[in-house]
Amino acid sequence: MNHSRLLIAISIIAIIGCSTEKQSPTKQWYKGNLHTHSYWSDGDEFPELIMDWYKSHDYQFVALSDHNTLAEGDKWKVIPQNSIFQDAFENYLQTYGSEWVNYKIDSSDHTQVKLKTYKEYKGKFEEAEKFLIIQSEEITDHFDGKPLHMNATNIQTKIDAQGGNSVVDVLQNNIDAVIKQRDELDIPMIAHINHPNFGYALELEDMIALKNEQFFEVYNGHHMVNNSGDSTHMSTENMWDFINIAYIEKNKPIMYGLATDDSHHYHTKGRDWSNAGRGWIEVRAESLSPKSLIDAMEAGDFYASTGVELKELTIDNNRIAVELMQEEGITYKIDFIGCKKGKLDPEELMSTNGDKASFELTDDLLFVRCKITSSKLQENPIENILYEAAWTQPVLVNMK
Ligand SMILES: [Zn+2]
Ligand SMILES: [Zn+2]
Repeated sequence: MNHSRLLIAISIIAIIGCSTEKQSPTKQWYKGNLHTHSYWSDGDEFPELIMDWYKSHDYQFVALSDHNTLAEGDKWKVIPQNSIFQDAFENYLQTYGSEWVNYKIDSSDHTQVKLKTYKEYKGKFEEAEKFLIIQSEEITDHFDGKPLHMNATNIQTKIDAQGGNSVVDVLQNNIDAVIKQRDELDIPMIAHINHPNFGYALELEDMIALKNEQFFEVYNGHHMVNNSGDSTHMSTENMWDFINIAYIEKNKPIMYGLATDDSHHYHTKGRDWSNAGRGWIEVRAESLSPKSLIDAMEAGDFYASTGVELKELTIDNNRIAVELMQEEGITYKIDFIGCKKGKLDPEELMSTNGDKASFELTDDLLFVRCKITSSKLQENPIENILYEAAWTQPVLVNMK
């Protein structure tokens, strides 16, 4: 090929390349955890080491969501005397150096460390398209002794717990406060309801009564939150379907399910501790930015996971199809769960074994979602939730 022909060929490739890109921006999956605690509230580690853990474990985004606080202003943490925390402080000092770590020994001979703010620590870890830290707060409220918690993702200024006259009133006031900030600043934010079964604080009817709430934790990795329910309380997963049956009836948008860590304990691991790495979401977004991620989540283009990874997830008007990243020697059970029109209870519509399956969305259905359960044991499980799983979001079947 002579020089001018080569140039033409390159130009044609460039034109084709550009036009394809413009027509369909490539989306990709980003893995993240939207519920994390640090020394800014009752977590037991410095934000930098937590971010380092998530970044080095192939997460692309994390939200540090401490109780009723943002990581801002001056906060001095007194390091507990226990050797676990003393050693952890030494590790922090060794890792980041005395130039970065701001500490002093007080008159009682305790070590006090000035915590880094969100603005300070984010720059150390963020990398375009590789790692993003989203500002967040766990708005931590209560009613009549019941804990009522909600995460505000991509919040810009702290929201005080709003209180109220009933469980629903407290939750709604906090949801409305997040929406108010979002509207005033014109910045995307989401509020998600945390661990409904923690202290069995939330009844199904409370969840059904909420307005403008589209997200909740179907799985929370804290060891005390009763995801599975008990003999008198339904599991969060079962609750999810009943919420959606009621929401569809009332013409509310579908409720989506998240898996999160709610990690607090970074030095002791096991069933009695809330550790990192148990639950996350995979979001199919155009880019790694809060706006792109939130847009995708609001469109339901994400799934929750405790280990199972999807290779393909296709949803169109007629079907849901999934294909899994198969691990050697591991088998998978794929269930399609939903509710038929005119029925009041969710049911298993189809169950199959293998690494792919598809389900036809027929007119007799209200909604369908897919749950995949692996034969692989979770490395660090809680409750009786032993096997790795993934949950796709419910798809509303078009009313015809
Ligand atoms: Zn909580
Ligand atoms: Zn929490």
